Amino acid sequence: MVIVLLGPPGAGKGTQCKRIVEKYKLVHLSSGDILRSHRANGTELGKKAAEFMDSGKLVPDQLIIEMMAGAIESAQGNCVLDGFPRTVVQAAELDKELLRKGQKIDAIVNLVIDDNVIEKRLTGRRSCPACGAVYHIDTLKPKAESFCDKCPKQELVQRTDDKPEVVKQRLQTYHHQTAAVVGYYAEKGRQVLDIDAEKSVDEVTKLVIEKLDSLAAV
Ligand code: ADP
Ligand code: AMP
Repeated sequence: MVIVLLGPPGAGKGTQCKRIVEKYKLVHLSSGDILRSHRANGTELGKKAAEFMDSGKLVPDQLIIEMMAGAIESAQGNCVLDGFPRTVVQAAELDKELLRKGQKIDAIVNLVIDDNVIEKRLTGRRSCPACGAVYHIDTLKPKAESFCDKCPKQELVQRTDDKPEVVKQRLQTYHHQTAAVVGYYAEKGRQVLDIDAEKSVDEVTKLVIEKLDSLAAV
């Protein structure tokens, strides 16, 4: 089963994916997380991606398509895609890749949220470099300030691309290049499940699960 989670940066895709994968026993494939692990490991792909990521621009389609095709293969086609596809070209290539495997996207969820809310979410996001847990300085505070709940000695960090100037560029990139992906699916007659992502984390999870459970395929 393949679920695609769409939405601007900071909409809560990663937060919701962690819950969805538990419920439906799927693999969470976050293109951003995969790229960050390439960077941490100093791979060629990581080096090529760095300047795009740090400036809030998209990494070139061909690099991403190859990377995600490999990840989907490793997940044996049972995954929730987070942050991919991010362009119409990526969306079309994903359709082709799945068709080649005799699969299709089973559900497309779109987290809808206003830019003003996003800025606060991204600039307040903190994450654990050891386990990847994500917190927020106002809405999802760790038990001990600045330290991970699961790895108590681990200090939380702010992503460099969550600084206000890069956040502005990422939002522009979303509106110029990524928002069109919703239109791509709509034009193809695919059902896009819009969810109000401004609600609390638990409320959004409930809405997403209700929508997914209402689809016969999931
Ligand atoms: P994305 O993966 O879409 O970039 P994240 O899941 O990392 O977004 O969430 C961005 C920030 O907003 C994080 O700090 C997260 O803790 C917080 N967050 C996520 N969902 C909500 C929500 N529904 N209400 C308030 N804060 C949220
Ligand atoms: P994210 O963690 O999803 O916010 O992604 C962080 C950064 O990784 C983005 O700002 C892009 O530079 C890059 N990135 C992640 N996914 C993609 C994608 N599907 N296409 C192009 N660039 C991506």
